[in-house]
Formats: sequence, structure tokens, C-alpha cells
Amino acid sequence: MSTYGIDLGTTYSCIAHLDANGNPEVIRNNEDDSNTVASVVFFENENNVVVGQAAKENVETDGDRVVQFVKREIGKRDTRTYEFDGKTYTPVEISALILTRLKHLVEAQGGTIDDVVITVPAYFGLEERSATRQAGELAGLNVLSLINEPTAAALSYCARQFQEDRTILVYDLGGGTFDVTVVKMSMTQNAAGNDVQKITVLATGGDDRLGGKDWDDRLYAHILRACCDENGLTPEDVEAETRQDIRSKVEEAKRKLSKKQAAKVRIDVNGSRTEITIKRTDFEQMTSDIVAKTMNFVDATLEKVPAEAIDTVLLVGGSTYMPMIINAVEAKFPGKVQQHDPDQAVAKGAAIYASMLVEEVDNPAQGETTSGGATFPHAEQLTSKFTVEDQTPRSFGPGVVDMNGGKQTYVLENFIKIGEKMPAVFSKTYYPLEDNQELVRLRAFENMSTDDTLIPCVDEEGNPQATDPAHNVKLLGELIVNLPPNTSRDTPIKVTFKVDASGVHVEAVNTKTDEKFETFLRTESDIDVERSAVHQLRISSD
Ligand code: ADP
Ligand code: MG
Repeated sequence: MSTYGIDLGTTYSCIAHLDANGNPEVIRNNEDDSNTVASVVFFENENNVVVGQAAKENVETDGDRVVQFVKREIGKRDTRTYEFDGKTYTPVEISALILTRLKHLVEAQGGTIDDVVITVPAYFGLEERSATRQAGELAGLNVLSLINEPTAAALSYCARQFQEDRTILVYDLGGGTFDVTVVKMSMTQNAAGNDVQKITVLATGGDDRLGGKDWDDRLYAHILRACCDENGLTPEDVEAETRQDIRSKVEEAKRKLSKKQAAKVRIDVNGSRTEITIKRTDFEQMTSDIVAKTMNFVDATLEKVPAEAIDTVLLVGGSTYMPMIINAVEAKFPGKVQQHDPDQAVAKGAAIYASMLVEEVDNPAQGETTSGGATFPHAEQLTSKFTVEDQTPRSFGPGVVDMNGGKQTYVLENFIKIGEKMPAVFSKTYYPLEDNQELVRLRAFENMSTDDTLIPCVDEEGNPQATDPAHNVKLLGELIVNLPPNTSRDTPIKVTFKVDASGVHVEAVNTKTDEKFETFLRTESDIDVERSAVHQLRISSD
């Protein structure tokens, strides 16, 4: 089968497909003897770019030629670029290099790769999503769809242990990010009257700067201190080579401690061989506050969905191999915790979803639902059909002038709220601000708020203005609506927003002339905002 699921991770990436029996299977990275590929790129020289473990080994020695954590940059405004040997690379291009390495894993084993599904964090906005899709296309992949990481993890869990109605809390602790997501699986009927299992995201939370690296840093500091004590040195006396030696051994020691009660590391401290033994209990003690921090995020998420409603807690992400994590989560949710190949679950779920989409195309009669709905004749564990209900990753709406109380305020009216089922459509009628207005600059905004109205990130003249950072308000683009001469300020202009997985469609209809203006915002395009004119629509007030 040439359909694959890809988990393009912040620190590690993974690619999977369904084997001949229809069971999800990860493509091994034989070179690194691993199921995953480190999401690290080393620009060795003009002719050689290395991706994976070998690149990671250069982090300490050639840090300025190594790019890692690029997922934090992808699709961000004003993002940085990277320059090596006279060439400039964007985060999309770096991500494409990682995807190309995954593609080569398949090809090295004699496979071909055509269609893929790539996973993204549930909190990714439109720009991050379309940038991820672009990276896939740049790597020569046909990106069938993107799927949220926790949804993919839940899919792979259900492929294993099917249950009809379930609310699952996905605790995903990776290398550099921590995501808590509550997903609901429920039986429903599709348009054809068939039973399908629907997956929806109920709540998301977490921290994009919290992950396995924090445990590595603590262990590094501990080993450095122990090396100093052993050799009667102060940290300032320790040579750069020694520090590098410790850095390169920390992650391996951490992984050993997930299996064993103690781990030994041998470090060359300024030329003298030193053996340090780390006990698991000590490691747990020195990192207990980080574990507690993750649990605080779990508690915050439980304010949105009560703990009693959670049937299963799914541990995902390589860092959940650590027994201290399993124990902490088990203490909070006794008897509810499940963990299956946490570093592969997301890629496997994406592979299941990718095959669902391909089957839907091959067998369209079965695919009545938004984005999936095929059966799994092969996968023994799957006893039902699935449908993944796509939800809007953000809230969307236009900027308009509120005339209330005789005072003009430029506001963002949220048409479509975060978490709504896609495709989502909403319309509202507005009016020109004044008589004989020549045009309307209809601005479309994205944000993370569920408020009906909020402050836009530009004022009515297009000048940037401060907003609540938690709302993450972004300007997506502008639709110019030309008005014919002598248009009165009572002319109704119907504005419609439609959001689906591919982007935001904005439409404005002059209901007097039936003239229609529309634009499609995929959002990676440059945004040109005219900074002077005041050509807006107003909310009806008279
Ligand atoms: P990503 O953050 O890219 O989604 P993963 O989910 O694969 O990546 O998680 C990577 C993190 O998991 C790294 O910090 C890695 O050190 C850690 N990790 C992987 N295996 C183990 C293990 N056996 N014990 C402890 N940590 C592990
Ligand atoms: Mg991950």
C-alpha cells in the first residue's frame, strides 16, 4: 500500500502505514535503529544535508549549522529563516527536508509513497496548517489531509480496543511540547443511515515549551555537578568538551532510567575518566516539579470537561515512557490509563486515517460524512466505521464599525467560533459607513477567543493595535468591495464567512445590485493592508 501517515514532530518524526493485514505498522529507521527520526537537520556543507540522529550529534559541536524545533516556527508570521552556504531556508523548507528523509525510509525498503496524511497539533491555526501542507507538497508528497495529533492517537487506540462511546483525555508529552486534549468518540449515523464512530475534540490545553528536554536539562545539571564533586572542580573549571560529552549522554541515560532503577554514565572530565551512577529515585526527585506542572495543565483542562466524564487517559509521546509520568497520571485517574507505543501512536493513527480517505475515494458510496467513513475489512480490531469530524481550529470574523451610543468603535465580530464543525458558514448583513462610499475594505480576522466581539489587531485605519495575547488575533486578509456611485448608507451588504479544512472563504454581496465579491484566504500569502483610508462597514444601528 502506498498510503502513509506521518507524525511530523517537534523533536522526533515517525511514518507508518497499514500492513498486508490492515494493521498499522511503523517503517523502521534502520540507520538509527529506531522507530522514529530525530527532527534535526545538519547542514554539513553545500553538498550534504543530514537529517536524524547523525544531525543531532552535531548539536553541541556545530550548533550554528544545525536546525531543530522547526515545528515551533512553521506558519508563524515574521518567522526567521536559516542561511547556509549562501542558500536561505524557510521553516517550510526545513520541514520538507525532514519529510523527505521519512519518504526515503519507505523507498529504501522498496516501498513507494503516494498519498499521505500529516498530523498537526490540535491548536495549530490555519497558517500553521497550510504551511505544514506546503512542506509535504515540497517534499513531493500528495497530502490527502491533515489530522489533529490527539485525534490520530485516539484513532490508533480505538483500532486496538474498540468501544462505542468514550471520552478520552490524551496526555501527550513529547520532546519539547506538552499537549492535553479531550476527545470524544461517539456513535452516530451518517447521511446514508450507517452507524459511524465520530471523533470530536472537546478541549485542548498544554504548553509548547515543556517536554522531555526539560528532563534532559535537569539530568545534565545533575551530572555536571557530580563530575565536579568527583574531581574537586567548580562548574567554571569544566572544559567545553566535557560539557559536550555530558550533553550527548544525557538522553540515553534518561531512556535507561525508564527501564532500570539506575543508569551509569562515563564522562571524560577534563581528561580524567569519571563514572557517575544516577538512581531513578534521585532522577524522579530532581524533576518532580516538572511532572507536577504537567498535572496542573491537566487540571486546567478538566475545568472545561469534568474528570468524571473521562473514561480513558491515553499516554502519548516518547516522554510518557518515564515511569514517573505513568505513576502520576495513574494516581489521578486510577485504572483509566492506557499506553501503547506512545512514540508511534500518532503516526499509526494518521496511517489509519489515510487509508480511510483512500478507501472513501475508491468506494465513494460509503463515504457520506465530512472527511471519512470507510470500513476496515482487514483490521481485525476495527469493528465499526469512523468519521473524523473536522473542527475549526480558530474563530473567524470580519472587522466592522459599531455605532452604538453615538461612538464609533472598530470591532471584530466572531462569526465562526473555535471548535465548530466544518464546513462552518455564517452570514450577517452590514451597511456602508457613509453615503457615496466608494469601497469597503472588509478585513478577515482569526483568533482564539470564543467571545462574540473583541478588539481586532488593527484599528479601522489599518494601524496595528494591542490585543489580549491570549486571543492571538491575526489579520488574515482583506476583501475589497467596490460600491457603485451614489450608494446610500442604507444599502445592505451581506457578508458570509465559510471555513473548511482548506481555508477561509469570504464573500460580500451588495444586495441592491446583487454584485458579489469574494476571496479565498489560504493565509500564507502576504497581507497588504492599506493603512490610510477608512472604508468600512457598520453594524446596523438605525
Ligand atoms: P515529539 O516531541 O517530536 O512529538 P516524541 O513524542 O517522540 O517526539 O517524544 C520525544 C521525547 O521522548 C524526547 O525527549 C525523548 O528523549 C523522549 N523519550 C523517548 N523515549 C524515551 C524513554 N524510553 N524514556 C524517556 N524518555 C523518552
Ligand atoms: Mg508528538
